[in-house]
Amino acid sequence: MTTTSGTTPSVRLERVTKRFGDLTAVRELTLDIERGEFFTLLGPSGCGKTTTLRMVAGFEEPSEGQVLLDGTDVSGLPAFKRATNTVFQSYALFPHLNVEENVAFGLRRKGVARKEAARRVSEELERVGLAREAKRKPRQLSGGQQQRVALARALVNLPTVLLLDEPLGALDLKLRKGLQVELKRIQREVGITFVYVTHDQEEALTMSDRIAVMNQGVVEQVDAPEAVYDRPRTTFVAGFIGVSNLMPGVAGPVSAGATELKLDSGVTLSTPGNGYASGERVWAVVRPEKLSVALVEEPAPTGRPSVEGLVESSLYLGTATQMVVRLPDGVTMTVLVPNADETERQRLPGAGARVRLSWATDHMHVVRESQVEEPETTPQEGLSSERA
Ligand code: ATP
Repeated sequence: MTTTSGTTPSVRLERVTKRFGDLTAVRELTLDIERGEFFTLLGPSGCGKTTTLRMVAGFEEPSEGQVLLDGTDVSGLPAFKRATNTVFQSYALFPHLNVEENVAFGLRRKGVARKEAARRVSEELERVGLAREAKRKPRQLSGGQQQRVALARALVNLPTVLLLDEPLGALDLKLRKGLQVELKRIQREVGITFVYVTHDQEEALTMSDRIAVMNQGVVEQVDAPEAVYDRPRTTFVAGFIGVSNLMPGVAGPVSAGATELKLDSGVTLSTPGNGYASGERVWAVVRPEKLSVALVEEPAPTGRPSVEGLVESSLYLGTATQMVVRLPDGVTMTVLVPNADETERQRLPGAGARVRLSWATDHMHVVRESQVEEPETTPQEGLSSERA
């Protein structure tokens, strides 16, 4: 019953399945979340994130499998008896109580002495930056402030695990970004386990120690943010986290620890590692900022894999220029070139130019197809909230 770090996990899910009638919302999920970790469940709408969180909280019971908190099976234990607290997207504050009364509510019900409760409430309000608003009613607060009250109200109960279900979802982009940084600071300060649900990939990358990427009730990858971004395991993860620059191809024979990879666009590359069967369908991923672009007339860079294509569009984004390049097999690749130098930027090939895209071998990663069918929503949905 230990994690890789040798301690009892804060949260353990053992082959947890949740069915609602014919629908399987969560499938055989096995997961360890370590003590003090900021752990995020990330995925598109309907992938089973909230259901997973609700099973940890005790608002739902698994159809199969077990949930363990601090090593103890909590099957059948109601939510209020678990050492968890949940912060929801809707703050659900009592409108007739002021800020400190809202935060103190749970403590009063538990019979915590008035003086002790007052001390803990004021400590939490200080932590979330609301000491001066203690006497205000919820309607006199902004959305961001109301969410801080909800957070203080949860933290004041000293949960060992705090569950957060899209807590910043109702806030505008700027406020959300500010609160992301603050939530992370608070989590470090209190040192308790945070299990965070979001469909926003950028939010997950910014805040988490580890991310579980979910697709149709299945966790496709659990890794640190850098690993999920740089070394996705499946086409779904590659597409959901960031822009999906996926070049389809077929794995060939292995020689000297490297696999030959024949891309559909006609180029043959070599990739380190030999975990692929000869003839297996695979995809080469290169992130947009890792691609270099040059006109085909220019000499090909030595020692760098490359593909040729046609620039479909070039968009000025302020800090960078975004190009879309179509390869001979019809696949489009997005290229992001930082606008560090105005002369350089003006020399970038425009729409209609024939170009060569190249990259360092280290920056290419080979992925397999997801085991589950692609969701109805497009992988790009992960980016949409960022633009909202
Ligand atoms: P969102 O980001 O939209 O909240 P999610 O990833 O959190 O999505 P869940 O809320 O866990 O997804 O839902 C997973 C699936 O289970 C969905 O298809 C949903 O419609 C279904 N579902 C969830 N709760 C119930 C319920 N009580 N009864 C029936 N189906 C449910």
